[in-house]
This record gives sequence, C-alpha cells and structure tokens, in this order.
Amino acid sequence: MFKTDLLDAKMQIAERRGLCPICGRNMVQADRVREGKHVFVWYKCADGECAGQRLQKQTSR
Ligand SMILES: [Zn+2]
Repeated sequence: MFKTDLLDAKMQIAERRGLCPICGRNMVQADRVREGKHVFVWYKCADGECAGQRLQKQTSR
C-alpha cells in the first residue's frame, strides 16, 4: 500500500469524525457563513499551534 493511500484513508476518517486532518485533535467551530440555501461552517483545530482547518458545507432547511 502506498503512503498516500494511508494518508487519504486517515483524512477520510478524520473527516467523518470531525477531527483535525493534520493532528487528529478535536476541532472547534470558527465561523459560519450563510450563502443562499447553504451554510458553510469553518472548523479550526482546537490546538492553537496547529494550522488544521476544515470547511463543511451544510444545506439549511
Ligand atoms: Zn490539528
């Protein structure tokens, strides 16, 4: 198995659990932007030293 595959799998797991893709810590909600029918939520790593961040798109109802 290639290293990139492992990294991909790790990131997919992190994505599902809502954990930081870089260090695996919990993430905290940093910002929320509503745009039409969608809500974009920025999460940043709870560790201030880590640059990990994630954008999650949600559909508001
Ligand atoms: Zn992190």
